[in-house]
Amino acid sequence: MKRVFFSDFDGTITKVDTCDLLVTKLARKGWKEINALWMEKKISTEECASMTFRLIDAGPKEVQELIETVEIDEHFLDFLHLCRKQGHDIYILSDGYDFIIDMVLKRYKIDVPYYANQMIYQNGFKIACPYLNPDCGQCGTCKSSLMEKLKGDAEQVIYIGDGASDTCPASKADLVYAKDYLYQYCLEKGIPVVRFETFLDIIKHLGL
Ligand SMILES: [Mg+2]
Ligand SMILES: [Zn+2]
Repeated sequence: MKRVFFSDFDGTITKVDTCDLLVTKLARKGWKEINALWMEKKISTEECASMTFRLIDAGPKEVQELIETVEIDEHFLDFLHLCRKQGHDIYILSDGYDFIIDMVLKRYKIDVPYYANQMIYQNGFKIACPYLNPDCGQCGTCKSSLMEKLKGDAEQVIYIGDGASDTCPASKADLVYAKDYLYQYCLEKGIPVVRFETFLDIIKHLGL
């Protein structure tokens, strides 16, 4: 059976959420309140990022040094290798930032197509959202609309994620692997879900 995998990046492929890391290490006071508004879907990703970036005085160099400490799931490379061997496509869909994803993937020599917001440095960081969906209004990178576009002729659409930006795509997938916030959300909403901690759980569960 031909499958297509869509995976979140932060906290799913990486062990820590790089957006969380960025604000906890580099933002001045006030980011928690902004983040709470985003979690409650009272402000969009674009608004949340624009407000939060105003609290960050650091530049690209500080961000780069911080991101160099970020590790990925120990089993992600095996997972990727098995997917490729079996002809399943995989895409990274992130409501985080291209600049950060690119840095982490290059360090691990991973070549996977990814879709994310742009983090631009121009007298402070700015966000740009090339994958905004006007019908959604919430996400910076609207994962559901990208899934629809990218799924091709796959017979099974699988979503892997952990957080608040994964709730929308999770309801559009045939199968969801989730942890943390997303796992609880799926249980509450009655979305069929399989819990995972590392990509090894997914490899085993699917018999890849
Ligand atoms: Mg995440
Ligand atoms: Zn959306």
